[in-house]
Amino acid sequence: MINDSELIEKFWSKVNKTDDCWNWTGPLNYNNGYGAFSFKSQHYLAHRLSYLLANKSIPDGFQIHHKCENTSCVNPEHLEAITQQENIELINQSNRQSKRHVWSEILEYEDDSTNYMTPQLFQEFKWGIIHLEPFTSESGRPPMQAIDYVMMFEVQFACGLRITEALNLIKEDFDLKHRILKLWNPKTKKGGYQKTTIPPYLISTLDNYLKRFTNSDQIWSINRQNAWRYAKDAGRLAGLSIFEEHDNHDIEGVWTHMFRKACSKRMQELGASRELRMLKLRHAFKDAHDAYDKVDIMALLKWEAVYLQ
Ligand SMILES: [Zn+2]
Repeated sequence: MINDSELIEKFWSKVNKTDDCWNWTGPLNYNNGYGAFSFKSQHYLAHRLSYLLANKSIPDGFQIHHKCENTSCVNPEHLEAITQQENIELINQSNRQSKRHVWSEILEYEDDSTNYMTPQLFQEFKWGIIHLEPFTSESGRPPMQAIDYVMMFEVQFACGLRITEALNLIKEDFDLKHRILKLWNPKTKKGGYQKTTIPPYLISTLDNYLKRFTNSDQIWSINRQNAWRYAKDAGRLAGLSIFEEHDNHDIEGVWTHMFRKACSKRMQELGASRELRMLKLRHAFKDAHDAYDKVDIMALLKWEAVYLQ
């Protein structure tokens, strides 16, 4: 029996009740479309929690089935506890379901969800991109080829870029010989650019890819909405469970910092210092007391030559 009034209040503030379904307006788990709810570091599937809040119990090993087939619905009248076997049969009967859905319902818990991409997840994400073209998504025909999207996200991940920084790049900004990427500040236009590094492993791929462009060509000429939509579709197709609970951000917010976060996490896991990571992402050094103490871009290049060859 759950009777924490703070939890209950927060939970229902994220539900839009209609005469029929009660729709979850909080984050959805991208793996399975179920509402996801977090409270005091505990994570819940919204429909299961709703069922419990309605004073219905879930016998051990039972799963909660949506009779309405609307996975984001939390109306307890639309939910029933059934055995795993019954649930699998129902899911197999229903052509809206994929194999992945069966497994995620069995797991019942978004244990494997993440708010950044590991190198492994990034590979799956790229698989999603490549398969999006034959895949009829709500975004319709993509305005660029799959290879262009792959390279755009590859560069964002490798160089820790914001989406606008990636979209502003022209061929001249890539100094492959020195492994340096120039990022012009779109606000100042004249002068004012930042530098970051291009990891060694990407150099020959980029060299090959950039051959088709002239020096002043914009490399990825799409808008950010399109870029994010494509990323999300690819993530969903690859079955990635991208999720982050935040008081004032929704799932969109996760995607906007996904690749920068992934870049930083990978470096961290390979042992890079906080200073190197801040330099890579071009964050201000808050505590640098002396310019001589700061790590510089040469240190970053040397580090990458060892770890990201
Ligand atoms: Zn419903």
